Formats: sequence, structure tokens, C-alpha cells
Amino acid sequence: MSTIYQPPRQYPNLPAQDPGLLADVVAGQARLTPQQALDILHNMSLAELGRWADARCRQIHGEIYRTYIIDRNINYTNVCSAKCTFCAFRRDAEDHDAYTLAYEDIYAKIAELTDIGGTQILMQGGMNPALPLDWYLGLLSGIKEKFPHVHIHAFSPPEFIEFVNFFDPPGTTLEDKIRWVMVRLREAGLDSLPGGGGEIFAPAVRRKIGLGKCDADAWLTCMYVAHTLGMFTSATMMFGHIEGLADRVHHIDLVRQWQDRALLESGARDPMDAGPGEPIATPGFGHYKAFISWPFQRENTPLGRLKEWGQGEGDSGEFPGDIVARLDGSGTKDLHPEFGRRLRMAGSTQYLRTQAVSRLMLDNIYSIGASWVTMGPHVGQVGLKFGANDMGSVMMEENVVSSAGTTYCLNEAVLCKLIRDSGYVPAQRNNTYDILRTHDGALSPDLQVRDWSEHRARKLHVQAPAGSATLTVGGR
Ligand code: SF4
Repeated sequence: MSTIYQPPRQYPNLPAQDPGLLADVVAGQARLTPQQALDILHNMSLAELGRWADARCRQIHGEIYRTYIIDRNINYTNVCSAKCTFCAFRRDAEDHDAYTLAYEDIYAKIAELTDIGGTQILMQGGMNPALPLDWYLGLLSGIKEKFPHVHIHAFSPPEFIEFVNFFDPPGTTLEDKIRWVMVRLREAGLDSLPGGGGEIFAPAVRRKIGLGKCDADAWLTCMYVAHTLGMFTSATMMFGHIEGLADRVHHIDLVRQWQDRALLESGARDPMDAGPGEPIATPGFGHYKAFISWPFQRENTPLGRLKEWGQGEGDSGEFPGDIVARLDGSGTKDLHPEFGRRLRMAGSTQYLRTQAVSRLMLDNIYSIGASWVTMGPHVGQVGLKFGANDMGSVMMEENVVSSAGTTYCLNEAVLCKLIRDSGYVPAQRNNTYDILRTHDGALSPDLQVRDWSEHRARKLHVQAPAGSATLTVGGR
């Protein structure tokens, strides 16, 4: 019997690594404070952190299944009004390799997806001022007419904020204006919103890396509007660049606070407490379903040209990002002269640590996604032991992250094998994390493979309308 949601209690006077506190966090009966989470991120051993995050994951998701989705990333345009310094994908409209896909090209991609049993498209693009509202309405209604069973997971908050700027909808507040646009897109076929453009919410960091992109308040407000309209969303974080560890914790904490708001205002059931197939949300109200984090990929990006901390003349002492970062997001760039001018890239260990902390902090979000797209299949697989329950998407194409460096492409058989080799039964899910198929029998995609040499993970191809690079990020 599931219960109406109430956030777990916090115990700020207990040490972060108190075993009793962590046992209660695993059981969903205590909430880590941001300070405790930061202490864990800094100081807990990797093995211990993985053990607690894995225990929490098993408490929520059980011992048997770990999931994936078959969807397709479609980046409908690379023309973008913003100039994020971490982005290798964007183009100006006059660039020789700028593109906007025609409706027919998009339909052809979706047809390829449905041919392999796919259920969802993840459609995001640059923020292209040349596209009017009618272009989006026509696209969505055309997709729904041709592919009524395909779930449309599309348009991240920065795109919505630019829709408001481009379309000038009626309304006195940003929330009103977003709602006006979102209602129309939803009526045309939009089903849910991906969490792209989250990056790092702290203003000092965001102003340095997200030039022309919406601030955290607008990002979170957009998702809140989607929730009030009954839509489910995801949240993301891109870390391992100029930010401090406290910025990561602040970011995760903001997602947690706004999830509280969605769940409390709707009188929803506890998302961790509902049985399989049992509705969590109050009809007419949505919430965040998932959180996915991944390290910044530097190749081909302006941000990636910065020196790593320690390589510059005079670099010494604490990383500038850590000196500037505050748990309430109030840090300012003037706290260190080299803030924003040095990188601290995150490798596998930092990825696993950060993901594990997100699992422990996000007591109100059902799913944590592993990021094999950027980290590689085997680190993504290890991620299933560091708090992640979901391997994201079979990757047919990826354009955004692959423009900025290494990304990997996996088919369904490899994804299932990675999950099975971790000790779980692979299961295909839909957007709301309901299980569509479980792979316990001999017909499972991985159990039919005799020669794995044909099924190795491969680097993504470069899709090139007019010579452009191709990119997407699975299952976000
Ligand atoms: S990350 Fe997105 S919003 Fe930023 S420049 Fe690239 S395409 Fe535009």
C-alpha cells in the first residue's frame, strides 16, 4: 500500500558517515543534508560510497531487473542563438554546415526506430530563431499522425525559454508564457520533457559556461510548469569543468527541492513506495522521473581549450571552483582570480562518486541513469553498482555529445549483455519506467548472439546533413 509523499527527515547534527544515518538513508527514512552530501563526496572511500549507493538502489529497484529504453535522439537543428562554451554542436545560421531537418527526414528516422522496436524519440535542437511556432506544431502533429504509439520526449527547458523569447506569447509572468507555449505543444503531441541544459545551476558557473542560455530559476520553472500540466520530466547535470564539488551538491539539492514541490502540491504517492505499474502521480500532475549526470567532454569546445588546474603558471592550492562554490549557490567569481580559467576534468572515479551521491541525495526521484554514452560501456556497467538502475538508450545516433569527443554506440544485444553481466536481468522500459519486456528467456537479444566480435561497442558515426557532425544523448 503506497503512501502520500512526505520528504524524509534530516538529521543535520549527525556526522555524514554515521552508519545509522546512512542505513536510514538507504531505507528512505532519512535525508542527507547538503553539507553531509558534500562531506561524503569529498571524503568517503570509493568502495564505501558505492556500497551505500548500491544498497539504496536495491532498496528502490529490487534485485532482479535493470532497465534500458529503445529510443532515438533526433537533433532537429544545429542553429542556435546561444554560445555555450562547452558546446561543439551549435552553428550560426550562415555557417556552411548549419542544418534544420525537414519533416520527412525526421519521419524517416522515426520509421527506422519503430523497425527495431523503439518506443520513444528524444528530440532536442539548438535554439533556432528562424523556426516559428507553427513549424513545431506541424512537426509534432505530423509525428503523432504517422506514429501514434511513439512517445515524444522533446524540447528541454532552454529551448522553451527561447520559444518564449521568439514567439512572444501572452502572459504577465515567465510561468504564464511558458504555459501558453507548452499547452499548445502538448496538444500537438508533446508527451514529456527531457532534462537537457541543466549543466550546473550555480549562477557563477552558469554565467561562465552557458552564454545565452537560461538561468537555473527559468530552467526549474519550466519543468515545474510541465509538472503542473501532468507531464513527466528528467533532470541532468554536466560536471567536471570549472565547478566546485559544492556546486554539484547544490545542483542536486535544487532538483530535490523542486521535486518536493511537485510531489507535495499534487498530493502524489511516494514515488519510491508505489508498486509496479501503480500510478504515482495525481492525475493532471507530473514530476521528475529520472536524474542523469555525466562529465563534460572537452574536444572541439572553447571550454575544453582551458588549461587543467596545475598546468598554469602560479597554479597552486585548492581548485578555484572549490573556493568559489557555496552550497546555497551564492559563490561569486571574484572569490578567486583563476575561477573559470582552469578546468578540473572528471574521470571514471569522479563520475562514479558523483552519481553515487546523487542516488543517496535524491530520495524523491525514482531512477538514476548510468552514463555509458560518455564514459564508455564498461564504466557505465560499473555505474549499475554505484546507484544507477537504468542504462539509458540503445544508441542509433548521437550528435551533441559526439561533437565534443568520445561517445559510444551500443545495440540492444550489447546493452542487455552489459546488464546481465552485472548480475541483473535486462528489461526494456518505456518513458514512465514501466517494464515492457523482460529478457529472462533464450530469446533475449544477448542470449542469441554467438559471435560477439560483430557486436562490439563502436564509436558513433558522424551523420552529416550538409557536412555537419551528428549527436544525441540517450534516454534523457
Ligand atoms: S549546448 Fe545547446 S543551447 Fe548551448 S550552444 Fe549548444 S546547442 Fe545551443
